[in-house]
Amino acid sequence: CGVMAVYNHPDAARLTYWGLYSLQHRGQESGGIASADGEQVYDRKGMGLVSEIFTDDVLKQLPGHQAIGHTRYSTTGDSALLNAQPISVESTKGLIAIAHNGNLINLGTAKERLERDGAIFQTTSDSEIIVQLIAHSKCSTLIDCMAEALSAVDGAFSIVMMTRNRIFAARDPRGFRPLSMGRIAGKDGAPDSFVFASETCAFDLLHATYERDVEPGELVMVSEEGVTSRIFSKGVPQASCIFEHVYFARPDSRIYGRWVQQSREEMGRQLARESGVPADLVVPVPDSGVTAALGYAAESGIPFNFGLIRNHYVGRTFIEPTQRVRDFGVRMKLNPSRHLLEGKRVILIDDSIIRGTTSRKIVRMVRAAGATEVHMRISCPPTISPCFYGVDTPSKEHLIAAQKSLEEIREYIEADSLAYLSLIGLTHSCTKGETADGLSPGSFCTACYTGDYPSQQIDVTEILPAVA
Ligand code: SF4
Ligand code: MG
Repeated sequence: CGVMAVYNHPDAARLTYWGLYSLQHRGQESGGIASADGEQVYDRKGMGLVSEIFTDDVLKQLPGHQAIGHTRYSTTGDSALLNAQPISVESTKGLIAIAHNGNLINLGTAKERLERDGAIFQTTSDSEIIVQLIAHSKCSTLIDCMAEALSAVDGAFSIVMMTRNRIFAARDPRGFRPLSMGRIAGKDGAPDSFVFASETCAFDLLHATYERDVEPGELVMVSEEGVTSRIFSKGVPQASCIFEHVYFARPDSRIYGRWVQQSREEMGRQLARESGVPADLVVPVPDSGVTAALGYAAESGIPFNFGLIRNHYVGRTFIEPTQRVRDFGVRMKLNPSRHLLEGKRVILIDDSIIRGTTSRKIVRMVRAAGATEVHMRISCPPTISPCFYGVDTPSKEHLIAAQKSLEEIREYIEADSLAYLSLIGLTHSCTKGETADGLSPGSFCTACYTGDYPSQQIDVTEILPAVA
């Protein structure tokens, strides 16, 4: 999912909409914006793309100087309007709206407990638990209630929250998902506006400057008194999702302090060093394989070209929820450039093989277009374990690398050769060079490649009595 927040701007809802537009790649199922004018909270949600939902008329129904927004990609809960965010909950502390990226885990019977305590859940999404915990907290100030609720849940959360006159942003203690803060300079001596976004690419369109990341375990509040911050948890090692650098985030974003483009190019270079093969042409599987393919071509000296052309009116095939849509999607989305491929030994670069069905179709497509050899190179290690932190990888039985050996996968996708980037090569690619502010190979979650999950199985109900 993608989240966005704007504080203190006369066009808050419109800026939030632009931000969500830049974050559309993080989720295409539903979108929503909640705004507030100091008195009341307004919200509008819909299914589909943000550009379809937020027409001028709809934006006019979202007045006020602050807003939060969300674009959804379902991992838990159904893909329905009911689960579109922001979710707003009325409580004794006033109305609280939330937009969440990530997945909560180890929730145990938290929901039943809250229900016994009088909570009425509106959605089947795990995100609502956070607001209900805040609403049912006995702490004296809102920020205390929030800090308490956030330390009671486990898993991945990059969230923005809003009351009728304040904005909050928080990241889970391991910093699984990105979340950054930016600033728009006030015109003619007016106070600055503050913005928060899942990825920094959302700032550029708003003329916002990147200020800093919301830190793992940090809760930031923006109100009339300015920006305040509190650490609600520390002492847990950082475990930021490395798959954001591999595939999920946009290459023009800087996440965890590191340019995604720089990581991806390095992945391609490292892949060429680790598993080079004689060939005539390096071809990316667009769009996700493009930057790594550029790196591979630069390092190997083999020419790069767009042997597969993408139809840009088709969205991300992976984040379409059903296999049927995905299958058809591949052919709708990609078409070969026959004149480039004919008679060539081709190296195909893609970011990942999940089920193997896409890769198999693409290899066939390239061969059918006249390639004499097709060598598949993948810019991360084999995906052997599902994600519980907000990426919708299928269960082990559908993960081809959990079921088959390298040679069996090669045979299944019908490639002449197949190689993946090593784990060390991947973490090195995401930390090498000067923009890796404080990141080390150990700063990342790599569980989908290792099966070694950074969180422990703690049942949140054991912490709950103090909270609910
Ligand atoms: Fe990211 Fe994989 Fe960890 Fe999920 S399991 S957070 S996709 S690295
Ligand atoms: Mg792809």
